Parts: sequence; structure tokens; C-alpha cells
Amino acid sequence: MTRTARIVLLSVAFLLALSPARGQEPVAVQEKVALQQKRTFRFEDAGVRFGNEFSGARLNGCTQVGANAFQLVIRPENTPINNSAWYAFRVTADAPKTITATLTYDGGRHRYKPRVSHNGRDWRSLATDRYIHDRDEQTVTLTLDVDTRPLWVAGRDLIGVAQIESWAGRLARKPFIRQSTIGKSMRGYPIRMMEIGNGKSPNLVFVISRQHPPEVTGTLGLMTFVSKLSADTALSNRFRERFLTLVVPLVNPDGVDAGHWRHNMAGVDLNRDWKDFKQPETRQVRDALLKRAARPETRPFLFLDFHSTRRDVFYTQKDAHPTFPENFTRDWLSALGKRFPDYQIRRTGSHDPTTGTSKGWFYERFKIPSITYEFGDHTDAELIRRITGGSTEEIMKLLLVAADN
Ligand SMILES: [Zn+2]
Repeated sequence: MTRTARIVLLSVAFLLALSPARGQEPVAVQEKVALQQKRTFRFEDAGVRFGNEFSGARLNGCTQVGANAFQLVIRPENTPINNSAWYAFRVTADAPKTITATLTYDGGRHRYKPRVSHNGRDWRSLATDRYIHDRDEQTVTLTLDVDTRPLWVAGRDLIGVAQIESWAGRLARKPFIRQSTIGKSMRGYPIRMMEIGNGKSPNLVFVISRQHPPEVTGTLGLMTFVSKLSADTALSNRFRERFLTLVVPLVNPDGVDAGHWRHNMAGVDLNRDWKDFKQPETRQVRDALLKRAARPETRPFLFLDFHSTRRDVFYTQKDAHPTFPENFTRDWLSALGKRFPDYQIRRTGSHDPTTGTSKGWFYERFKIPSITYEFGDHTDAELIRRITGGSTEEIMKLLLVAADN
């Protein structure tokens, strides 16, 4: 039997109860991904248990291969797929002991360096002498000290549906932030939008993130951006007077909850759907943002989409592509370079409306600077806060000047 045949494919067609947007019929979307069986793998003689029964987990199989040695299988939700080989599991033991856990990937290669946590909130990197990446075998063997306390092991800190919801809920208590539900995912999770500003300004900024489930460093960037915008400083206060910023922090809640590598429940990369808009998540985000932009006098200025990839990089238009505000990207990155001379700014400029990315769509639609703001998979959280904090201040300064012109 082939490996693929062993994957149980759940294929359920159902009608989404979308509120039809302007005369459009609700869309039938087929759920077509390999669901993990949520379970605990128990090894009674070793007194060790592995489990995936938590939001964001990805552990498809586990077998014992030695007295204290275990082999884990990690699979993507469907294929073909970008190699974003996310894993997340929990392990406990009846008594303190050291075990090895060998990750094997069925449908991808190792990408994310292991992070560990004893409470699911505070994370640290597993020391480099505690894991061996065998590039020939495409396996990674982790050495883990385990005991009765749960030990979470994941490709990056678990900042998922619950953490983003509670973060946004806390911020929404501020008088200048309003939160609304703009739609729901295939599985029924709310898709939420925050509106930051005094509500009267016609000047708009659009920000989204987490189309791709494992991209936690993108979320850290977005959180810093929002926190800077919400700060009680002269610059932020003035910006909130002049600009309304619309933020959708979690575009793909189903994928994040299910521990997906890349896709939504239909097995589709949402950041390739901003052309056909066949997926409920992208359609609803687009419709909500377009509705806000359709008000009289409205002037869109900027679109940012926070992601993670192998290194820090800004995907932008080229300087030759006209935008309003003019030359924003060039001036912004130049200001960022002056502010952080030790930080290497990488920029890739392009525009191709056929790719179906949010960046391409926003540029086509509004001719505003439309930027995919990428942090490295392993970029340190403190560096993300420092760089995004500074870059957000430079954005506010430049946009305030542009709004006066
Ligand atoms: Zn991404």
C-alpha cells in the first residue's frame, strides 16, 4: 500500500452559509485535506506518551524504535505543497528520563528548528547539540529530557487562534480600536478585523497576516506594528487622527488550528487565491476591505501582509511601478536603513498580477505600495520587535507627510 493511500482523505462537500455579497450566490467549497487523528500515542513499557490533542498540533504517527527511542511521522495536509514542514507535539513520561525523537517527513523536508516549552507559553530553542539533522536521510533526531510535566515541541512558539484572539480582545478595549467579525472560515471560526483610528479619517491603511499557518514570526511583526500604532505618543496619536488602519490578523484560522503547513481546509494556498477568490476566507477579507474603501472621500495609502520565510525580506513593487504615495517604499526602506545601520535590508521588487498574491491584487486595485513583510522563520523575537517598532514609526511619519500633500 502506498503512503498516500494510507492517508485518510476526508472529502466533504458542504454549502457555506456565507451571506451572499451583492447578489452573488453562496459558494460550495469542498473540504479536501488529510486530517490528523487527534490522539495520544502510549508506550507503556517506556512510560512515554506523545500527543497532538491541542490547537496547532501536527503529529501524524509515532512508533517506538528502541528502549527510549521514538520515530515520529509528520505529513502535510495535502500535496503538492510548499515545503513549510510544520510540526508540533507534546510529550510526557512517568519518570524523568532522556529520550530521542526522530522526525521523519512524509511529503516534505525538515525546515523549522525545534523550540520547546513546559507551559505552552514560554518557549526556548532546543540547544543545537540536542538535535541532529541528517540531510541524507532527511530526518532530525531530537534529544529530549522528559518527565511528568508536558513538554511541548514545535517548529516555532505556538501563537495560534486562542493567543491571537485574546491579544486582539485585549486591544479592542482601547477607545480607538473597534473589532468586528467580517466572516467565517470553512470550519466556522470567526475572521475578525480591527479598525484602529478615530473613525472619521478617509485615509486608509490595510494590514493582514497569517494566510500561512506556521508563520509565527509574521504574527510577531503584525503584533508589534499594531502595538506601535496604538501607543500613547505624539506620533501615534496624530497618526490615529489622520489614518484609519484596518487589520485582519488571522486570515486562515482553520489552517492554524489544524497545524497545517500552508493551506486552508480546501487544501488551497490562500495567498494564491487573490485572483479567482474561490476560497471563503480570501473572498470575505476582500469584501470587507473593499466595503470600507468604498466610502466617499476614502483614500487608501498602503497595504502590508506579514509573513515568514527563510530570511527577513521585503517583497515590494519596483521603484518604476507608479504608486500613491509616490516613492513611498524607496523612502521608507531608506529611512529604515539609516535607523538600523546594522540590519541588512533585503528588498525584492516585482509585480505580476497573475500570481494571485494579496500584494499583487492590492497593487492592481489601488496602485498603493503593497508589501509582503517577511521575517525569517528563526528571526529572534526581540529583533522583530525592534525592527518592526522602528519601521512602523517611519511608516507613520511618511504617511502623515503624504496625507498633507
Ligand atoms: Zn507566507
